[in-house]
Amino acid sequence: RIVYLNGELVSENAAHLSVFDRGFLFGDGIYEVTAVLEGKLIDSALHMARLERSAREIDVPLPVSVGEIVEIERRLVRDNNVVEGVVYLQLTRGAEDRNFLFSSEIKPTLLLFTQVKTLEHVAAVDKGVSVKSVADLRWARRDIKSVCLLPQVMAKRIAKAEGCDEAWMIEDGFVTEGASSTAYIVTDDGRIVTRGNSSATLPGCTRLAALELAREQGLTVEERPFSLDEALNAREACLTSASNFVVPVTRIDGKPIGDGKPGPMVKRLRELYLENARRTAI
Ligand code: PLP
Repeated sequence: RIVYLNGELVSENAAHLSVFDRGFLFGDGIYEVTAVLEGKLIDSALHMARLERSAREIDVPLPVSVGEIVEIERRLVRDNNVVEGVVYLQLTRGAEDRNFLFSSEIKPTLLLFTQVKTLEHVAAVDKGVSVKSVADLRWARRDIKSVCLLPQVMAKRIAKAEGCDEAWMIEDGFVTEGASSTAYIVTDDGRIVTRGNSSATLPGCTRLAALELAREQGLTVEERPFSLDEALNAREACLTSASNFVVPVTRIDGKPIGDGKPGPMVKRLRELYLENARRTAI
């Protein structure tokens, strides 16, 4: 596989990073994951906008323009023959002798690589995924897509140990989001409920696209927190993320949601999302 590191396209075995990289030593960095379908980038503009925002919030300059990043992503997808999968991007503050504070000379590290993965035709679409609720142990700036992912790694391990596919993180009785996805429920009268964007969650790109499409179709979207209890009694539930698109959640903490099968609203949302994703892919 060819990867991109600091201005160069090199074989993954030839790419070397400093042991003093602050991404490694401090978790001083951010990332993005963009889906690839039929060799094209999905929701690229949304991911680039969030990348710019995250970089600005932690005050790391982008070493190349967003336009150049998109070209690098397209080149990696082509050269690595990625038909379906993801492009991962990581931007860190750079490498310097270890010190909490950094100098004005420090140069950011930019790394991109691709991963081949089946995204569209996965068992989860027909079967639904099971979710385990866990405490949200993260920091107070979850709107920044930071590489400090230890709480999410721990949450996913707990979920997996219980035979679940994803963790939904709980704060004050309310669901914040999935460990690597946005969380939704559908109420008995057919409203789609998900938390509004704030520093309590990551503003999902898939969420942004899906909610706009839902509203265009006249579906009712309610942006508000929902409790674990409300989720357990919801008619349908789902999650969204770049690498899952829209996937039904059919079990939470072992309890079936609705009739325990993927419901019509989530199915429709997935179809709407995928149709638009294909149409706008680059
Ligand atoms: N929330 C968290 C904590 C995430 O890590 C992710 C994706 O990795 C999402 C939500 C979904 O965001 P997106 O739809 O942009 O992939």
